[in-house]
Amino acid sequence: MIQTALISVSDKSGIVPFAQALHERGIQLISTGGTAKLLAENNLPVIEVSEITQFPEMLDGRVKTLHPMVHGGLLARRDDPKHLAALEAHGIKTIDMLVINLYPFEKTIAQAECSFEDAIENIDIGGPAMLRAAAKNHQDVTVLISPEDYAEVLAEMTANQNQVSFQTNFRLAKKVFAHTARYDGAIANYLSSLPESLEHTARSNYPQTLQVSFNRVQELRYGENPHQSAAFYQDVHPIPGALANFVQLQGKELSYNNIADADAAWECVKSFGNTLQDGVPACVIVKHANPCGVAVATSAVEAYQKAFKTDPTSAFGGIIAFNRPCDEICAQAVTKQFVEVLIAPSFTKEALAILSSKQNVRVLQIELAETVNAFDLKRVGGGLLVQTPDVKNVQESELTVVSKRIPTPQEMTDMLFAWRVAKFVKSNAIVFCANGMTLGVGAGQMSRIDSAKIAGIKAQNAGLSLTNSAVASDAFFPFRDGLDVVVAAGATCVIQPGGSVRDDEVVQAANEHGIAMVYTGTRHFRH
Ligand code: 5GP
Repeated sequence: MIQTALISVSDKSGIVPFAQALHERGIQLISTGGTAKLLAENNLPVIEVSEITQFPEMLDGRVKTLHPMVHGGLLARRDDPKHLAALEAHGIKTIDMLVINLYPFEKTIAQAECSFEDAIENIDIGGPAMLRAAAKNHQDVTVLISPEDYAEVLAEMTANQNQVSFQTNFRLAKKVFAHTARYDGAIANYLSSLPESLEHTARSNYPQTLQVSFNRVQELRYGENPHQSAAFYQDVHPIPGALANFVQLQGKELSYNNIADADAAWECVKSFGNTLQDGVPACVIVKHANPCGVAVATSAVEAYQKAFKTDPTSAFGGIIAFNRPCDEICAQAVTKQFVEVLIAPSFTKEALAILSSKQNVRVLQIELAETVNAFDLKRVGGGLLVQTPDVKNVQESELTVVSKRIPTPQEMTDMLFAWRVAKFVKSNAIVFCANGMTLGVGAGQMSRIDSAKIAGIKAQNAGLSLTNSAVASDAFFPFRDGLDVVVAAGATCVIQPGGSVRDDEVVQAANEHGIAMVYTGTRHFRH
């Protein structure tokens, strides 16, 4: 029977109602500094871990719970008289439930401005130690790492006088070890991706010599063209959620171009939600490394149908990626077109049955996760360019309205969507969007005005209206001509970085046209 629960969470969302529910069931709450403070502010009686350990939290929080009073309480077997006698002898109380989420290491390193020191401080020590202790002792301890399990555990406790079954404890324990393994994997990957001499300095100090390590996954039939030989390599420490971790469920052997395009599609679709709980269902269709259709909707199939409409001609033979499971109707819809590669975090049995009738379609399953490569590498003649990846995701609060007319809430939503897509389109990128779907994508032109014209022509070819659309431009408009083109096509709002010497001229043009314009302050070149 659960009598005590230790709660220590970094992400505090949902924790107050859950702690309240535990309190109402007569369970004693123990907690660490920040969490204890929040619970107390919400009128919940809580004992601080420091009271139990008789030790203050120290070393900037590096040592909070690492103490026999905590670990003894988690690890003691309740059916072992020797264990119970040891607890008794040292005045240690059992802890029956552990509720934890760890320092957000992956989120921290995904931020462009993350310093090496920030990354190191976000390695949780006491959290994983407690998680592993509780999961090891799952016979007697219930351990929760995810708010999605709160309701089920509470329901079980209600039905069984505060008891949680062995099966549930076992299931939760398995989840813990998968989680801590992934957490440590992310740390190992981050550290090993730093060049040798960088490991103890700031991430932005590039070393004199650089060594990178990858393992060969497979040889490919050929490279970008049939007369080129090729192979595919994976980071020595696999990156959770990365394309290279794909599991191919069916289909022909992947080609070099398939893998490159699949990566573009997967990274783009994940930017709309990289866990099953986050963001919205999205679909991205890629051809020749550029998105030719992107949409968000209330379901995967609807997102696909919208994305396909952008450019049905180019979608032929495309790479299609979802950030939600692919179910039966989704598979049915997708297999109506010629598709080279289909990617999703999972596939239902029914979806796989439908896909199996199209044996040539390469079906890739990849775990959803936020992690990004620590470095981007690009070979040039006799050399290598190294940079941190473009992880910037502009939020509404970072935008500056520069036009006289303020964008409407709908325009703001459309512009932010367009901006997200533009990041994944080769420069110069001009993207028309409305209502969560792309309407015209102008990619890879040497002048911005040509990209603008092409985006308009493509929308027209697809029979889509650009009236009241939003436009994203991946970098500033060097002249007003590009803006004039998108407004003439029907755009009423534009999102762009700003920063041109002719910004005044461009803003004046926006005001003349009566459209709304916002600056992001950052650009998204992609070459
Ligand atoms: P709080 O906000 O309650 O002060 O801290 C909660 C976080 O501290 C949780 O993410 C938990 O995993 C982490 N934590 C708990 N004990 C320790 C410890 O002894 N050392 C470190 N580094 N982190 C801990």
